Amino acid sequence: MTTALLEVTDLRVAYGKIEAVKGISFTVEDGSVTTLIGTNGAGKTTTLRTLSGLLKPTAGTVTFDGRPLAAIPAHKIVSLGLAHSPEGRHIFPRMTIEENLLLGAFLRRDTPGITEDIERAYTLFPILGERRKQAAGTLSGGEQQMLAMGRALMSRPKLLMLDEPSMGLSPIMMQKIMATIVDLKAAGTTILLVEQNAQAALSLSDRGYVMQTGAIVLTGTGQELLRDESVRKSYLGED
Ligand code: ATP
Repeated sequence: MTTALLEVTDLRVAYGKIEAVKGISFTVEDGSVTTLIGTNGAGKTTTLRTLSGLLKPTAGTVTFDGRPLAAIPAHKIVSLGLAHSPEGRHIFPRMTIEENLLLGAFLRRDTPGITEDIERAYTLFPILGERRKQAAGTLSGGEQQMLAMGRALMSRPKLLMLDEPSMGLSPIMMQKIMATIVDLKAAGTTILLVEQNAQAALSLSDRGYVMQTGAIVLTGTGQELLRDESVRKSYLGED
C-alpha cells in the first residue's frame, strides 16, 4: 500500500485580485515521482511556491508527512524535509559552487553528514566537483541548474520539488537531469516535478496532473497521460 507524503486539498492562491490557483487537489505518494504539466501561466510555479511557504494560500489545506503546513514559515518547512529547486535557478553567482551547496545545508549541524552530501553532489554532477572553488556565476546555464538541484538535496529532503529542471538545457544535459531524477527516486527521495518537457517528465512519472488556468483538468499515471489524446495534442505537439 502506498501512502501520501503530500496531500493538497482545495488549494487556492491569489495575487491580489487575480486567482492563479483555483481550488486544486492532488497527492504525492511516498517514494513516487509526480509531475505537474500545463501551459504557461497554468499555476504550476505558484503551486510549488505555496507548498514551500513562499506564498500564502487563500484557502485549502496542505498536509506534508502527516502535518498541516498552514502557519509554518518557509525555513521551518525546509527543516521538515521539503526542499525546492526553483525555476530560474537562483544561485548566488559571486559565491563559489561549494559555498552555494553549503547554503543548502544551513539548517544542519552534522558536519560529517554535510561533507558526505557535498561529495555525493560532486559524484552526481562531476562538473561541480571540478569547479568547486569557482564562482557559481561562471557556470553555464545547465551547470547552474545542476547546482540548484545539488543545493536543494543538501537539506536531505524527503520531498524534492523541482521547477522546470530541464529549462534551457541541451538534450544531453536534459537526459542527465532526468536520469538523476530516476536515481534519486531509487535512493528513496520523493519528487514533485514541474516540467514543460511533458514527454520526458511523464515517461519517468508514477503520476501526472495536467493544470490549465489554475485548475487540474486531468490526472493519470505517466503512461496513461502519455497515451491521452488531449495531452498528446496540447503538450506533445502532435496533430
Ligand atoms: P510557466 O510554465 O510559464 O512558468 P506556471 O504554470 O508556472 O507557468 P505561474 O507562474 O504559477 O504559472 O503563474 C500563474 C498565473 O499567475 C499567471 O497568470 C501569472 O501571470 C500569474 N502570476 C504569477 N506570478 C505573479 C505575481 N507575482 N503577481 C501577479 N501575478 C502573477
